Amino acid sequence: MGKVYHALAALLVAAAGLAAADVPLGQPPPGKTFLVILSHHDDHTWEWGFGGFLARLVDSGWTGYYVRTTNDEKDGREWGPNDQVNHKESIAAVKALGLKEVISLNWRNDHMSSVPLKEVRAQYILLIRKYRPDAVMSWNPWGHYDRNPDHRRVARAAGEAVWMAGLENVHPEHLAAGLKPHRVPVVYYSQRADYGRGHAPNIAIEFNEAQLLRKVEAYWAHRNVRGVPASPEIKRREMEEPSLAAGKRAGVKYAEMFYRLEEWDHLPGLRDYLTENARAK
Ligand SMILES: [Zn+2]
Repeated sequence: MGKVYHALAALLVAAAGLAAADVPLGQPPPGKTFLVILSHHDDHTWEWGFGGFLARLVDSGWTGYYVRTTNDEKDGREWGPNDQVNHKESIAAVKALGLKEVISLNWRNDHMSSVPLKEVRAQYILLIRKYRPDAVMSWNPWGHYDRNPDHRRVARAAGEAVWMAGLENVHPEHLAAGLKPHRVPVVYYSQRADYGRGHAPNIAIEFNEAQLLRKVEAYWAHRNVRGVPASPEIKRREMEEPSLAAGKRAGVKYAEMFYRLEEWDHLPGLRDYLTENARAK
C-alpha cells in the first residue's frame, strides 16, 4: 500500500508541476550572431532582461553584440560622469555574459520621446545590415505600458528596423556604402511588468546554474545604479528568484520568458509551407 501511495503522491506532484507550466519551453534558434537592442546600460541584465538566454547562446558558440541606445547620463549616484561610468559597467556586464562588444549610440537619457523615430530606426537598420544577426532581442513594441520614454522609443524603432533592414529600397545609402539588406529570422521581445500589465510571453528558454551565476555577475556589474550587495545570498537571490519563477511557468528550474516572433509569422500558413518544402528537398 505504501508503495502505491508514494507512486500516487509522486504522480500528483508531477501533475501539479505540469499544471503550473503555462508557457511552452522553446529551444534556442539556429544561428551564430545575435544583436541585443535596448535602451540603457543595464537593460539586458535585470529581471526583464535576457541574461540567462544570452549566456546560453554564447556557450553554444554564438557571438553577441549589445546596443546601448542612450548615454545613461541620469542613471546612477552621480551627475556628470554617469554616462562614462555606466558605459564602463555595461562593458563589464556584457563580458560576464560573454558578449563581444557594447555599441553605444549615446542618445540623451530620458529624452528619447523627442528623438525622431526614423533617426533611431535608421541606426538600427544600419547595425542589422552590418552585423547580420540571426536573432535580435529588444523591448516588446506591443507591450501594454512602459512609462520609460527610452524603452518605448527603442521598442518601436527596433520592431520596425528588423523588418525594414531586409528591404533594399529602404536607406539605399547603406547599400551604396557596401552593406546589403538583411532579414532577421527571429526576434525575442521582453517587457518590464512592474507597472502596466507587461506583455504576454509565448516562449520560455531554459538555462543552467552556471549561466544563472553569470547573469548574477552581469546584474551586479552595474554598481553605479545597484550598489554593492549586502551579502552573497542577497547577491544571488536578486536574479535567482525571477529565474525560478519563470522556470516554474515552463516546468524547469531556471528560465526567462519572451515573446518570440519569426520573420513570416504574420503570414498564416507560410511557415508550415516552408517547413514542408524544406523537408521535401
Ligand atoms: Zn532601461
